[in-house]
Amino acid sequence: MRLVLVGPPGAGKGTQAQFIAEHASVPKISTGDIFRANVSKGTPLGVQAKAYMDRGDLVPDDVTIEMVKLRLRENDASPGFLLDGFPRTVPQAEVLDDVLRESGTKLDVVLELVVDDDEVIRRLSGRRTCRTCNHIWHVDFDPPEVPGVCDIDDGELFQRDDDQAETIANRLTVYAGSTAPLVAYYASRGVLVGIDATGPVDDVTLRAIDALRSFGDG
Ligand SMILES: [Zn+2]
Repeated sequence: MRLVLVGPPGAGKGTQAQFIAEHASVPKISTGDIFRANVSKGTPLGVQAKAYMDRGDLVPDDVTIEMVKLRLRENDASPGFLLDGFPRTVPQAEVLDDVLRESGTKLDVVLELVVDDDEVIRRLSGRRTCRTCNHIWHVDFDPPEVPGVCDIDDGELFQRDDDQAETIANRLTVYAGSTAPLVAYYASRGVLVGIDATGPVDDVTLRAIDALRSFGDG
């Protein structure tokens, strides 16, 4: 099965990607992992990507696309894969379609984790990070014994800039701007399925597996 997972920040995409890939017996391929692998092996693409990242710039599309193409040609991806973090835009989706067409295959399903903005803000803005051990607590879902103090080492807890409500709202706006057209693109091709990604992690995984089953031949 060849599938793509999309969802906003705070939707639990990384966790679900892992579980769903295991269930479908396909490798989880995330752009973060591909970047790290190329950089650590010092591949020509990794060297290029690192130069951008070291300057604090985004890795350009063509570099990302080349890395993804090479990764999809590896043996473990021939029976299928779960892509996480790619494509992010319609042009990238078109490239992916071309790559798969060249190898005589196509995407089976695009799974969208649906979480409304208020829920994302509640999940992310409740996170508190320990200054000492970097453990992440949550004021509602995983609170420490004493508010503001880490259970592990009594370290002080703080809210990272990334977890401020205003920052999250900005990220959601950016996400909506690039992903709405991507989701529409896949919907028009009849491969999109959205699942409710609120509630316990295990419930979301079950919904995802059910949705994939209804997509048939795998
Ligand atoms: Zn701590």
